[in-house]
Amino acid sequence: MSWEENVRKVVPYTPGEQPKIKNIIKLNTNENPYPPSPLVYRAYEEICLEDYRKYPDPTCSGLVEAIASFYGVDKDNVFVGVGSDDVLAMAFLTFFNSDKPILFPDITYSFYDVWADLYRIPYRQIPLKDDFTIEPGDYFGENGGVVIANPNAPTGVKLPLDAIEEIIKNNSDVVVIVDEAYVDFGAETALPLIDKYDNLLVVRTYSKSRSLAGLRIGYAFGSKKLIKYLSDDKFSFNSYTMNMPSLTLGAASMRDKEYFEETTAKVVATREKTKKELKALGFEFGDSATNFIFARHPQKPGKEIFDYLRSHDIIVRRFDKPERISEYLRISVGTDEEMDKLISVLKECLGN
Ligand code: PMP
Repeated sequence: MSWEENVRKVVPYTPGEQPKIKNIIKLNTNENPYPPSPLVYRAYEEICLEDYRKYPDPTCSGLVEAIASFYGVDKDNVFVGVGSDDVLAMAFLTFFNSDKPILFPDITYSFYDVWADLYRIPYRQIPLKDDFTIEPGDYFGENGGVVIANPNAPTGVKLPLDAIEEIIKNNSDVVVIVDEAYVDFGAETALPLIDKYDNLLVVRTYSKSRSLAGLRIGYAFGSKKLIKYLSDDKFSFNSYTMNMPSLTLGAASMRDKEYFEETTAKVVATREKTKKELKALGFEFGDSATNFIFARHPQKPGKEIFDYLRSHDIIVRRFDKPERISEYLRISVGTDEEMDKLISVLKECLGN
């Protein structure tokens, strides 16, 4: 017998590329093209490195209070983690312990099946409809839990809140996770439902609408009971996940509502303009409610367009699997200038 038989083997998630080359137009990981809030810059200047010899606050109280205050919830309804990946991973560990399969769409955030494999959670992937929408009724049967990204990724398509509520209502005996990484760009949040359903966890991130992917901050809302279970598991894993700069700068960012609304609106305006331009070039896509557009061209293979863009210093994301989406490109929304450049290179690529 080899020691390798006892290894917890898993095929890891592949994160989008973070190229070292400068002056590239990076539209591959849905980062925000705008810098963080000026309040974050100010808080950064006040950081005292001397404090770093101490451990950070394990309760993350400053950050949790800033989030609770922004969203008008109690601090006991809030959980924070190292990006929403950390929050989701902890939630899978805490809440999905049934022999019955958890359910999520066949086309969705490709980390869900990786966590399920890692923790040996059985799962069933439910096909999206042809237009990439979710059929709520598909999630009503017996299961070990449900995870829905709303809006979904990489499709960008949203589900209305009443459909989300139907899924939660029909799954009162399991935990339902709604991953709202992109909700600020155009979907309705399930946050108000945490008072009504104590089995609902709403997961958010600083990486997209708060322009702070590099800090790694995610958070979640749920009933006090749900958050307590999540915290107990987190504190059984690692007490000090959140480092001092994340706690300080994350709280500062949450205090700037005006800047958050202004930059989010700019991204949405650029997305709508880009949709029109892509449509004029013959691209096909669902109605994105996110900071990216998931598009394919009926006359040109996705790989060819991807390679052409890449050779012109524009990086987008393409998924080989499942086959149903292999012709699609997921294009993050950058600044207006970046999108103008994208459109002009696409025109060349298509011979227009
Ligand atoms: N959920 C979805 C649907 C995502 O697309 C992403 C970004 N890759 C995440 C969660 C994780 O984001 P982060 O860990 O940066 O908060």
